[in-house]
Amino acid sequence: MAIIQQIIRADLRRLILLLTIGSVLLSLGNSYWAIYNEQKQLMVNATLESNRRYAAKIAASAETMLLSAQKQIAYSSVLLSDKRMGRSYAESEVHRIVNQSDLFNSAIVVNQNAQVAAIWPQDIVPAGYVLPENTRQSFYAKDPLITDPFHSVSGNTLISISHPIWGDGGRYLGYVSGTIYLNENGSLARLMRDHFFEDETYLYVVDRHGELIFHADKKRIGENVSYMPFIQQVTDGRGGARELINSLDVDMLAGYSPITSAQWGVVVQRPKASVMEGINTQVLQVFWRSLPVALLTILGIWFFAYMITRPLTQLARSVSNINDEQVQHGILSIRAWYYEAAQLKIAILHGIGLLNERIHELDNDSHTDPMTGLYNRRGMQRILDDFESQQACFAVLALDIDHFKQVNDRFGHDVGDLVITELARIMQQSLADTGIACRVGGEEFLVFLPHTSLERALDQAQSLCETIALSPMPKVRHITVSIGVSGVQHCASMRDIDVAIKQADTALYAAKNAGRNCVRSGALAIRD
Ligand code: GH3
Ligand code: MG
Ligand code: MG
Repeated sequence: MAIIQQIIRADLRRLILLLTIGSVLLSLGNSYWAIYNEQKQLMVNATLESNRRYAAKIAASAETMLLSAQKQIAYSSVLLSDKRMGRSYAESEVHRIVNQSDLFNSAIVVNQNAQVAAIWPQDIVPAGYVLPENTRQSFYAKDPLITDPFHSVSGNTLISISHPIWGDGGRYLGYVSGTIYLNENGSLARLMRDHFFEDETYLYVVDRHGELIFHADKKRIGENVSYMPFIQQVTDGRGGARELINSLDVDMLAGYSPITSAQWGVVVQRPKASVMEGINTQVLQVFWRSLPVALLTILGIWFFAYMITRPLTQLARSVSNINDEQVQHGILSIRAWYYEAAQLKIAILHGIGLLNERIHELDNDSHTDPMTGLYNRRGMQRILDDFESQQACFAVLALDIDHFKQVNDRFGHDVGDLVITELARIMQQSLADTGIACRVGGEEFLVFLPHTSLERALDQAQSLCETIALSPMPKVRHITVSIGVSGVQHCASMRDIDVAIKQADTALYAAKNAGRNCVRSGALAIRD
């Protein structure tokens, strides 16, 4: 909540920066996220597919080997049948089977009594040895057979590939078989063992019971992994690829393929984490590569935000200091370089102009009398302040209309007002620029004549008195005024000024007493 309030209070520049930099960061983050996800899916799919293909390739090669082994054994069975299982021939045949290629590690010919007729290498069991009941799978099969892996007396894991030998009239003469050691240096073992993976990919082979017969980790050979859902599938002859959790709880990407003739399954798998590591590195590389441009963009945004908001900020600051007399000058110097800011600047300047005009008007209103337009008492005080500060010498006339009550009584108050207004006009006209007239009471006036001697002031007062007496007045025809005159020759303080005004008042009183329509200066009567 506090953060939102802070943002609301933030200035335009911060808001623009927040909005634009926020948008840039959001879209960058979104891009990285999209790249990451897309790459992840691509890599997972590619890994699954390459593992499936590799498993299929290995399975196909193993299949070819097993078929070729079966063919060799089948061919031997035909030869042995032709030679009617002659002992010396059988011996040369087992020797040939083992030594002709790398495929077989041992070979045996067994007769119809389950006795060993010939065996190579010869030291395994002696000729004539009767096979124990539990090793007679091939003997009883009477069909070509690839046995399940089994453990020999000498501790080897091996399979046996056998073929029956048929005599004349379909008589069963026994069988011939070759054995392949799975953990020896035979060709099948090499095929399963030697790979070119540079990552953590590894391969294993299961037999039709789900038992591991090859594994990169030799300790695991013999372990049963049939609980894994796809093992059944592959030993049933179906290949594929899938993501799975292995027995060590590791997420794996596995491809698998069957070796149909032996009902085995080849599985090639790679830990998903090792695939992800590559993607993380890639995305990090994308991030670092795009960082300079992103930083430049943010810098550019900052610069443009600064340029755009600068005139507005300056205008806002100026407006908040609107009482400052220099504000108009300050606003004029603002560089409003684009349309909206320029229009705002014009509007603010116009507004300040209007405001100043209005203030001036109000100031005038508060210093002048609305009926006559002459200065009122407040206006007069300002003039006296100026006189005081300038140490000006001046003369002062106190003027009062004679018998004005009678005017009001005879012609009404409205006519009285018209007379006062006309009198003010005549005073201003005859004073021109030489004096300043103030209305200080209903029909009482003070006139200030700056830099004017008392004599000159008396002349002016007299002239004014006569002019008024001669001027026609609305309805009333004529009025007269009485004037008292005084002066300040060495103005020192407001007190001196007050004294001069009082003297003028006293002189006015004297003029009234002298019969009105006349001018008096202090105690001295000048003229009637
Ligand atoms: P005096 O010759 O002694 O001055 O006699 P006066 O009748 O003029 O006496 P005073 O100056 O004391 O009277 C002022 C009169 O002016 C009282 C009032 O009725 C009238 N008056 C004051 N202000 C105004 C105004 O603004 N308009 C009008 N119509 N009459 C005013
Ligand atoms: Mg009066
Ligand atoms: Mg009067």
